[in-house]
Amino acid sequence: MAIVEVRDLRKEFGGTAAVDGINLVTEEGEYLVLLGPSGCGKTTLLRLLAGLERPTGGDVVIGGEVVTDLPPRARKIAMVFQSYALYPHKTVRKNIVFPLAAAHVPKSEWAAKVEWAAGILGIQRLLDRRPRELSGGERQRVALARAMVREPQVFLFDEPLSNLDAKLRTSARDELKEFQRRVGITTVYVTHDQVEAMGLGDRIAVLNAGQIQQIGTPEEIYSNPATTFVATFVGAPPMNIIRTDGKLVGFRPENLLPLEAVGSRDDQLVCDFEISRVENLGSDRYVYGSIPALDPEAKVIAKLPSTLTVVARPDTREKYAVELDKLRYFDPDTGERVAPDQRTRTP
Ligand code: ATP
Repeated sequence: MAIVEVRDLRKEFGGTAAVDGINLVTEEGEYLVLLGPSGCGKTTLLRLLAGLERPTGGDVVIGGEVVTDLPPRARKIAMVFQSYALYPHKTVRKNIVFPLAAAHVPKSEWAAKVEWAAGILGIQRLLDRRPRELSGGERQRVALARAMVREPQVFLFDEPLSNLDAKLRTSARDELKEFQRRVGITTVYVTHDQVEAMGLGDRIAVLNAGQIQQIGTPEEIYSNPATTFVATFVGAPPMNIIRTDGKLVGFRPENLLPLEAVGSRDDQLVCDFEISRVENLGSDRYVYGSIPALDPEAKVIAKLPSTLTVVARPDTREKYAVELDKLRYFDPDTGERVAPDQRTRTP
């Protein structure tokens, strides 16, 4: 277990910064998720931590030691990639042993280490099979076991679940979380999937264009996004953002509800919601429309739980309400969060 820290970390490719001055400190044993859209620099940051890229500037510190100039094998990290890169002709046992052999760990220690890792991951019965005889989830566990045997201080994961189908992803996600909880090894996990990030992370660092937009618990990121980028990247459907009264005002779709259902109170913003389309997804209904009195241009979504039986029909105008303390305000120029402003109380 170790704390991972990066200081003013920068990586340029041909004069363009892929990682643009990042500062970050994990906690010991923390599961930190790097979340962001394609091309935002997640993989580059992970590769800098691993020592697979040399930074243009700044430092990487692992377990209190500056490792910027150390090669990957001297960093006590284990990396699991999107493609597990198991050797197809080797048995599971030989795949797991491989990094021990490469690191010249005495042969007498191999069996015990394989048993230990296979035991934690529940793959003892698979040790004599070859990768092609395993399911996607089992291959993932083998890749994890192979990463574990060197007893790393830090795990680095680069979208390790992206090759799995939707159902397997969910169970593999549970397994990964449970596994990390048990071994307690500091983990940095890259994904562009916000559901995965919310489910796995103790904290999430949201990246955009090589910079950290916000770092916080899933709850903080979801409820109090620092920027409009975070507000709209995290959450499905994303936070509604309307431009009114010189400000950007955001509210989550689940917080926009029919007045008829929530009842009239004085701590809410009430508006006429012009409904254009309704999607019934079983557990929820998504109601699409706009709020012409506040911002006729902005598309707005209300998410109604199935327990709410209020009628919602296209081409109608209904009174909807948002509690005032669910409104978030952003600067229209910078997109950054600003303090609440009660002037929007009257639409
Ligand atoms: P994805 O989710 O698509 O994998 P990412 O967030 O991991 O994206 P990176 O792979 O870190 O993004 O890439 C960040 C930026 O750096 C991109 O614009 C990419 O084109 C560029 N980049 C990455 N590696 C190199 C390289 N070896 N040479 C030149 N440019 C690179």
